[in-house]
Amino acid sequence: MLIENTMFGEVNKIQKSIDLLKEFEPMALKLHPDGYYLTYSGGKDSDTDLQIAIESGVKFTAHYNITGIDPKECVVHIKETRSRLAEKGILLFLEPPDIFTTGPFKGLKKNMWRLIVHKMMPPTRIIRFCCDALKERGGAGRLCLTGVRWDESTKRKSRKPMEVISRNRRLFNDNENGRMQFENCMQKGKRVINPIINWTTFDVWEYLKDRKCQYCKLYDKGFDRIGCLGCPMGGGKGMEEDFIQYPYVKELYLNAYQNMLEYMWSRGIVTTWRTKYDVLEWQMWASDKEQQNYMDGQIDMFSEEEI
Ligand code: SF4
Repeated sequence: MLIENTMFGEVNKIQKSIDLLKEFEPMALKLHPDGYYLTYSGGKDSDTDLQIAIESGVKFTAHYNITGIDPKECVVHIKETRSRLAEKGILLFLEPPDIFTTGPFKGLKKNMWRLIVHKMMPPTRIIRFCCDALKERGGAGRLCLTGVRWDESTKRKSRKPMEVISRNRRLFNDNENGRMQFENCMQKGKRVINPIINWTTFDVWEYLKDRKCQYCKLYDKGFDRIGCLGCPMGGGKGMEEDFIQYPYVKELYLNAYQNMLEYMWSRGIVTTWRTKYDVLEWQMWASDKEQQNYMDGQIDMFSEEEI
């Protein structure tokens, strides 16, 4: 429900989100004349975030990081959203990937397949180098808006309405002291506001339907989450489901694993994986501990290169 019962009485979640955005708009404008930097993925939470930003009347630009591994239906929705926003005078930028500055692909655009070779391992549930390189880019120096919600996962329960995110730590709070901390730390990391953090999935759908917002058609086909295909965060089962729906993606991953193995062997690196299928099996089903052990060995052996 979009009404929350608190010790101070009923709170309208929509109004609370709008108030938060209005309150911090001066800071967003102080940091950049375009105001907030809204990170957009094409998923339902992003669409909710977008609608809330529009409804609050704050100044912002929206940004989608091109990953190359989102479902085509999602990309279609993003492009349609971009056109609709343009009619309202709001910009949605399709941000191209960064360029490798080191390694075998130096000078070329980053994508999942090259990252796998470059990092000499597949991404896993605990080692998500692709998120860093492909998804969580942009917004440096700006006040960012995200559609992060507590309801999405237990891990996200630690996220707060306002955060300063650096590579290794997260500072936050929504009380007065915390706000001061937030402002004092502005120069140290990425500044983030999560306006719908306390919204449930039910709230999101209630709001989107009430406002007659367009959303990615995959939700009507039974998908409850939309994002990168073959994402390790979905675990082996989630990956399997993606590969059934999009068999070509499994082939792209296998092809990348073959290239990765050949690259490693060409450097004289002995691998426990003998084939591309071994790599996929390990990525999908190895325990977190096994995957962490591999990563620790990687760092010792090669001393980490920049991605
Ligand atoms: S595949 Fe998963 S872990 Fe990798 S960038 Fe996409 S969301 Fe992040």
